[in-house]
Amino acid sequence: MTTKEDGGGEDDDMDFDDWTSVGRGRGRGKEKVLKEGRVIGSQNSKRNLEECSSDEENRAVRKKVTNEEFKVILKFRNEDMSVNLSPIQVSREIKKKLGEVEFVKTLRDGNMLIKCKSEEQKNKCMQIDNICKKVVREKLIVGENRVSRGVITGFTLEEALERLKKNIQGGEVRRLKRLQKHVNGEKIESLSILLEFQGEVLPDKVKIGFMSFSVRPYVPPPLRCFKCQRYGHIAAVCKGKQRCAKCGGDHRYDECGVDVQMKCCNCGGQHNVAFGGCEARKKAAEIQQLRTIKKITYAEAAKSVQEKRTVQKSQQVMSSTSSEPSQILKSGMEITMDKLILFMAYVINCTDQVKQKTEKI
Ligand SMILES: [Zn+2]
Ligand SMILES: [Zn+2]
Ligand SMILES: [Zn+2]
Repeated sequence: MTTKEDGGGEDDDMDFDDWTSVGRGRGRGKEKVLKEGRVIGSQNSKRNLEECSSDEENRAVRKKVTNEEFKVILKFRNEDMSVNLSPIQVSREIKKKLGEVEFVKTLRDGNMLIKCKSEEQKNKCMQIDNICKKVVREKLIVGENRVSRGVITGFTLEEALERLKKNIQGGEVRRLKRLQKHVNGEKIESLSILLEFQGEVLPDKVKIGFMSFSVRPYVPPPLRCFKCQRYGHIAAVCKGKQRCAKCGGDHRYDECGVDVQMKCCNCGGQHNVAFGGCEARKKAAEIQQLRTIKKITYAEAAKSVQEKRTVQKSQQVMSSTSSEPSQILKSGMEITMDKLILFMAYVINCTDQVKQKTEKI
């Protein structure tokens, strides 16, 4: 079995998705082992027992996959990402390649989700190498090969990543990459290393030699559309209008004038749309953080952040308009305190009675 490793931190893109996946290679390896086991098993009764148990495991895995409803995500090549496909053409091609499927959906990140009707169809789907000439670079079965991403920090630029990978204990590291940071609008290498672990549970700590490093969850930067400049989707799936990142006008960034007044089309502020202090960007970052930590969908995280912000705003309005509402709150508190004291007295009373009764017995 050969596993390709990436160069590590050489390209500018922070996205892990450009990396060569080693997960599927491992999967194939396991399959081979099982098949070999079966061949030997037919000649040996003891082996047969083992085969049974591994078959049971297989069944359990199959059951889990059934729960995931045969969903496959096709990830497209970056250069093909912006190619828009006709839904009619896509449907025709998928019907030709797979037959009737449950549904097909273009995801927010531009990739494609196909819900198949059977295991067999799902396996066929895993063989697809393009959709209407849009090249598929990776295929993922939803629910399989789950990974978790974390960051450790304090590594000088001289530290060789491959050597580091070999020496990390406390979790199975699939890939690692040096993170970059923005300084005065320029991207430079940071002291932090992004680690991708096999499995859903992120370790709290890893050890390198005798030293221990705490692992914090990795929160990817918010996804911003280069067409409409809004957060949460990419240009390939954008339904919005063209907006300039610099002045907010209805033209592309490279078509913008030189001495134009900066205006953010997301919050109205006098800054470039990507400015770190932008309220809209802060909100998008908050959504991204919630999404990562709670492992929920973008829509769920966005709803939750919106609700939280609405509550915060109404509280601010309440405390700033007049003192009356806070008085109401105060008197409300007093009532609850009174009730609490009564309740406690009641509880003490009850326990006293119980004591008396038990003493009698
Ligand atoms: Zn957009
Ligand atoms: Zn402009
Ligand atoms: Zn803004």
